Amino acid sequence: MCVICSGNIIQGLVRIDCAGCPNVKYIPSIKSLCILICSHCPHLERIDRSDNLQILDCSKCINLSYIPVLPNLKELYCTGCPLIESIEPHYPQLTTLSCPDCRSLQSISQFLTNLKTLYCFDCPQLKQIPSIHGLEQLYCHRCRLLERIQRLDKIKKLCCNDCPFLEAIPIGRIHPEENYSDTLIELYCTGCPFIYIPYRSRLKHNIQKSNSMHFRLKRVQQRYQRKVYIRKLLKHMSFSIIDLNNLIVGYC
Ligand SMILES: [Zn+2]
Repeated sequence: MCVICSGNIIQGLVRIDCAGCPNVKYIPSIKSLCILICSHCPHLERIDRSDNLQILDCSKCINLSYIPVLPNLKELYCTGCPLIESIEPHYPQLTTLSCPDCRSLQSISQFLTNLKTLYCFDCPQLKQIPSIHGLEQLYCHRCRLLERIQRLDKIKKLCCNDCPFLEAIPIGRIHPEENYSDTLIELYCTGCPFIYIPYRSRLKHNIQKSNSMHFRLKRVQQRYQRKVYIRKLLKHMSFSIIDLNNLIVGYC
């Protein structure tokens, strides 16, 4: 029995940890609450809105289907919640979202304006990563139906290994005064047979100063047989992502 289901007074508490409680069915609204750890609660079905909540860990709550509006939430951990279908735009302060292994998850809101780090790997229903403006790190590997990652202007690290249907990855922001100041510095795309980097109009505008680069980039748009394609891809990356430190393209 934990602090929630023991009948103790919980109003006024700043931090509650009821992880693993087999009895708790819902968490009421608690105005003072900043941190809530309620992971591994098999019968938890509902969490009520607590406006000051900053950190919520509800991982492995197999009967939880909805996360309420939490205007001050900064970190959300909901690993392995099989009933959660979407991450709504209800968390304007959210900087870290960790929702891997959610087998019904189909969508993540693009309006998570402060989100910097997103872990959404092993989500078998996820088809698209939206354009989340401030996102810097994205871990979406082993999402078997993932087809598209939308434009991510500030992306620095992207891990999309083993996404067999993934076709497009974003390049990142192009600085108006510089030709190729892409933000991406680490890319992992092992096991993505159809991946290519989209040809973008802003990039085209910038690189027209150099004919040879323009030519090479244009050719990368087309589909090639795998080996030839990967060679083109690497050629392309060698000039278009100048800060790239680490590229692993294997088993393609
Ligand atoms: Zn309890």
